Amino acid sequence: MSVSTSAVEQHLAALRACDRCPRMHKPVVVGRAVASRVLLVGQAPGDKEPKLGRPFAWTAGRTLFKWFHGALGWTEDDVRDRIYFAAVCRCFPGKRPGGGDRVPAPDEIANCSGWLEREFALLRPALVLPVGKLAIAQFLGERPLVETIGHQISINYRGHAADCIPLPHPSGASPWHRIEPGLTLLHRALKLVAAHPVAKNPCNLPKVR
Ligand code: SF4
Repeated sequence: MSVSTSAVEQHLAALRACDRCPRMHKPVVVGRAVASRVLLVGQAPGDKEPKLGRPFAWTAGRTLFKWFHGALGWTEDDVRDRIYFAAVCRCFPGKRPGGGDRVPAPDEIANCSGWLEREFALLRPALVLPVGKLAIAQFLGERPLVETIGHQISINYRGHAADCIPLPHPSGASPWHRIEPGLTLLHRALKLVAAHPVAKNPCNLPKVR
């Protein structure tokens, strides 16, 4: 039996109702119910995403979707319909007293990883695209971006094997992807995504045993 969109919808309904982390701001932010074999893993929503009701809804998203358009020719809608959007944490962590968004705490990351693990079990992604340092660290450990961006790396996430192509965070707060060597490494990573066989047909799901 192949994975159905309704199974993904059921998963998202349970995720939307999650209240495991008392310091996280609600609502939970989820993407579309796409039964895709490409899983994008962001860090955590900002303050705009809960109001707008979708991940990457603001400036970082505009940059991210521009990258995909350049690499694959996909519109924002195409990307949202073809790639499943996950995240290290699905709730807005709130602001730090000194400004900027609070980085999710280890217990919050551990809480939300249960949802990510379920998504691996449900979708069996062949290609994982972690976006930004925190997301990359969940799959590859804490490593400098120059060692991971521009590479396709085999991963095994809690028993699920997949290819991983890390991307930098498209936030305007970091210039990493706009200056060398980040610029060249980002282009290399996007070329790898475009050349990956599953990116050409991301919703052709495998059979579930
Ligand atoms: S961050 Fe994740 S685990 Fe925590 S409340 Fe939000 S959805 Fe639940």
